[in-house]
Formats: sequence, C-alpha cells, structure tokens
Amino acid sequence: MAEERKIPYKIYLEESEMPDAWYNVRADMKHKPAPLLNPVTLQPMTAQELGEVFCEELVKQELNNDDRYIEIPKKIRDFYRMYRPAPLVRAYCLEEKLQTPAKIYYKFEGNNTSGSHKLNSAIAQAFYAKDQGLKGVTTETGAGQWGTALSMACSYLDLDCIVFMVKCSYEQKPFRREVMRTYGASVTPSPSETTRIGRQILAEHPGTSGSLGCAISEAVEVATHTEGYRYVLGSVLNQVALHQSIIGTETKIAMDKYGIRPDIIIGCAGGGSNLAGLIAPFMGEKLRGEADYHFIAVEPASCPSFTRGVYAYDYCDTGKVCPLAKMYTLGSGFIPSPSHSGGLRYHGMSPVLSQLYHDGYMEARAVEQTSVFAAAEQFARVEGILPAPESSHAIRVAIDEAMKCKETGEEKTILFGLTGTGYFDMFAYEKYHNGEMTDYIPSDEDLKAGFDGLPAFPGNGI
Ligand SMILES: *Cc1c(COP(=O)(O)O)cnc(C)c1O
Repeated sequence: MAEERKIPYKIYLEESEMPDAWYNVRADMKHKPAPLLNPVTLQPMTAQELGEVFCEELVKQELNNDDRYIEIPKKIRDFYRMYRPAPLVRAYCLEEKLQTPAKIYYKFEGNNTSGSHKLNSAIAQAFYAKDQGLKGVTTETGAGQWGTALSMACSYLDLDCIVFMVKCSYEQKPFRREVMRTYGASVTPSPSETTRIGRQILAEHPGTSGSLGCAISEAVEVATHTEGYRYVLGSVLNQVALHQSIIGTETKIAMDKYGIRPDIIIGCAGGGSNLAGLIAPFMGEKLRGEADYHFIAVEPASCPSFTRGVYAYDYCDTGKVCPLAKMYTLGSGFIPSPSHSGGLRYHGMSPVLSQLYHDGYMEARAVEQTSVFAAAEQFARVEGILPAPESSHAIRVAIDEAMKCKETGEEKTILFGLTGTGYFDMFAYEKYHNGEMTDYIPSDEDLKAGFDGLPAFPGNGI
C-alpha cells in the first residue's frame, strides 16, 4: 500500500478552487420531480402561492428545473469560507483495520458548531430572507441540528429566528437548545399552546412527545400569521438539495485533482438533502450518460421511506397545511418509533431523490440501529471522529461494501458522506454501550395505518 500514499489523508481545496455555483441536478433529469400541489385545488402550486410561505428567491429555486448552475451570492460564499471547504478524507486507518482492498473516502461535514451539513442550506435560506427585507424566519427542528444551523445563520445576518423543537428532543437535548439560544433563537417545545394547530394536537393527543410533522405545522402557522416572517425547511425541498450540492461539487473537484473515480457513493437519507447534495454532480454525469456510479441511500429500518414506502402525493406535515409533495412516503400520520437518529425520522423523502430512485438510478437499503452503532464505534476508534448516529448509517453500508471487496478481492473505490458529529447523542451511545438499545422494525400493519392516511384523489397511484 505504501506507494499509494501519494494521495494524502485529507484532501483540501484552496479557497480559490471552491465552487461559485450550486449544481441543479433537475436540469439533467429527463423525468423532472413532480410539482408541489395545492392541497385544496390539487393544482400545481404557483410561485405566488408558494411566496406566501417561502422567500421569493427560494421559490424561484424551488421551481427551477432548467438552469444547471445557480450562482452562489458572494455573501454566502464568504460565510462558506469560515468553515469550508470541508475535507475529503481517505480512510486509510479504517481500510487497514478492515484489511480490505477497497479504497474508502468520506466527505466530512461536521467541522462547524452546528455539527452537520445543514449549515450549507441554513445560510442560503437566511440570506435570501434578509435580502427580501424580512424580519425573521420560523422553522421546526427534530434532533436539533437544523435549528442550530439556522440560528447560527440568522445571528450572522441579524435575522429573528423562531424554532419549534419536537418536545421529546427539547427535553432530551437541553444543550442543543442552549446552543440555539446562544445564537439568539427563541425555542418552543412542540406541540405548544402558542398556535392553533398545537392546541388542537394537544387536545387530541394529550401528553404527546411531538413529531417533526407537528412542529412543521406550528412553524408554518406562525410564519403565515406574522407580518415580515417566512417559513424555512432544512431538508426535503428542491431548494435544499440545490444548496447541498456544494458537498458533492467540492468532492468532485477534489477527486478530479487526484484522478480518483468512486465506484460506489453512499449517504444516509432522512429527508434526503445531504445525499442529494453529495451525489449531485456524479448523478449529473450518470444522467448525461458520461459515467456510471452505484449510488446507495441508507435509511433506518425503523423509518423505511424508500424501501417500504409508496411513491405518491402526501402531506408534508401532520397538520396538513403544507403543499402536497410526490415522494416515497410512509404517510404523514406515521409516527416512527423513538429511534436515536432523530435526523432520519421523517415520513417522506426528497421529491428529487424519489424520482431518481423511482427511475432506477439509485439503490436503497434499510439498516437496524444496533448495527449502525457498531459501525459508528468501529469508525470512531480508528478514524478519530465521533460520528452522528445519522451519519453512521452511511458508515454501516460503507463497511459492508468494503468487507464484500475483502471477500472478492475487488479494489473498489467507496465514497460516503459523513454528515456530522455525535457529541449531543451520547445518551444514545450510552444505551448502546449498556446493551439497552433495541431494533424496532414497524410491522406491515403499522405501515398500513400510515398509508391509510394518504390523500385519496384520482391519479394518486396508491
Ligand atoms: C439532518 C441530518 C441528516 C439527515 O438529513 P438529510 O436531509 O437526509 O440529509 C443526516 N445527518 C445529520 C448529521 C443530520 O443532522
């Protein structure tokens, strides 16, 4: 292996090599993702309708299926420079530990205080809100990474930030909450008494510990009822996938510099934004017929949107106030078991990734959380980074693929997205270490209850 060491452990880009545009994979898709629908008229949402919820420029990005590149405004590029480029790491130590002929690389997005890739889109969304002269934004957060990223971006731009945090996380992760407050955000546990929908959910389910779907409904309600505020979302939407393309674009530039070509590209998938971003330029090549890659989306077995969901229009939130999105979904009423990968507990999946998966461009795998934590620990012990449980889903499958190479002797090049760090997830690690972690897999009956709540209208193939 010694002669291969000419590829460094960490490949950094110069600031001058950083991308100045996001790549919009939709421009290269033959079948575009299905449009968002107005839940009442069932017609595609117009820019004007979307503008009541989202900022103008973000609405344009949401609807833009044609422009391949969208310039990153200078103020956002300056912010990116504070914590980017993110390193592309050759996992020499892990390869050696596994005794695999595979070459493993990971793109590490945890080098910022929010601890994840979410800051890449948070700064973009906050920038456009400020640019439009808004006073503030509202959002929801589950595990807390998105709320933290958004509060950092808002404080940088002097924008008010209102976060509805899923109640069980609010209680279990007080430190995340305090990071958000350090950056000036107001944080309310959801469901709350402060909104109409929150009061309704509390009346129907007293003592509920909340869900992302509830928190979204509350955040949208406040945004649409408060002058000068709009709602922002940390995943799922086309615009978020667009902003996250910075991950894949940087990766591709770094790999091209050294003539590295990945065979397999792996990412965890909650709402799909980091995976969409990581694979974007590679998927573009595949769509244009210029190269081939094996893409793998990894999701928790407890919330298996791709592997066991249906491809249909569904509500994005529990309160059914958001537009309908066509996506792989478990139904907006599906409440996943309390797993330790909060960031992967969403019932639906990015419409962009859903279309690509539906068209056969991607594989999806579901993995159980104890095996995910085993992989996390194995990785932490040799590579030094304490990974987030979400990210560890990708590590699990990267290790599985590397072990297959060991059996077959193939020297495949594996790339995976290491989306963040797990310092706020030590309760989960503790459970794992104490042998108290369980693997919950929903039964077909559990799933059926979710599917029964899908909106029924002609053409919604369910
Ligand atoms: C939110 C989050 C995810 C999942 O979100 P996607 O939109 O699917 O990327 C993965 N990893 C970390 C660390 C997260 O915070």
